[in-house]
Amino acid sequence: MTAADFLPPTKDLDDLAAAAKGCQGCDLFRDADQTVFGEGARSATMMLVGEQPGDQEDRTGRPFVGPAGRLLDKALPERGKRRIHQTPTRTEVVACRPWLFAELEAVNPDVVVLLGATAAKALLGNDFRLTAHRQEALRLPGGDDVPPVDPTVVATVHPSSILRGPQERRDEAFQALVDDLRFAAGLLPNR
Ligand code: SF4
Repeated sequence: MTAADFLPPTKDLDDLAAAAKGCQGCDLFRDADQTVFGEGARSATMMLVGEQPGDQEDRTGRPFVGPAGRLLDKALPERGKRRIHQTPTRTEVVACRPWLFAELEAVNPDVVVLLGATAAKALLGNDFRLTAHRQEALRLPGGDDVPPVDPTVVATVHPSSILRGPQERRDEAFQALVDDLRFAAGLLPNR
């Protein structure tokens, strides 16, 4: 079973968010409080894709609200129980991709920023190596299950990796994230 078994018949964002609440497409639903669906403008030109929800995201049901999200806010060029932060398995990532693909199709952004290896591998393939492709304008690979959208894709680190990394390298790692986000913003078409 995957998330595809729980997708609604439409690509309406409200329908998708409501249906995602009941997803049992992989075993991760067992230990989670709730699904964390995307937020933002329905016609956003840029979409940020993270990884599995952290403790605060799980408790609030909102994306990027924990320490890593606050660091991300800072890096953006404009403007009871505690779950252990574990990387999802490839099976879980693949099982969850239908939600990401449906949201991508619904929003149809010009630029997608993949934050961290989990997001990058989910969309660009398991062999993708972030260190070899920073500040590159990438495209989604083809495939039967890939949505009919063609955003420019940029991969960078997840802000949580900066917080987990050595203290003495944080400033440098943070600046590299800011530079990657500026690069991504520079790919947005002028409107
Ligand atoms: S992680 Fe994704 S596929 Fe698994 S239960 Fe949650 S929403 Fe469904």
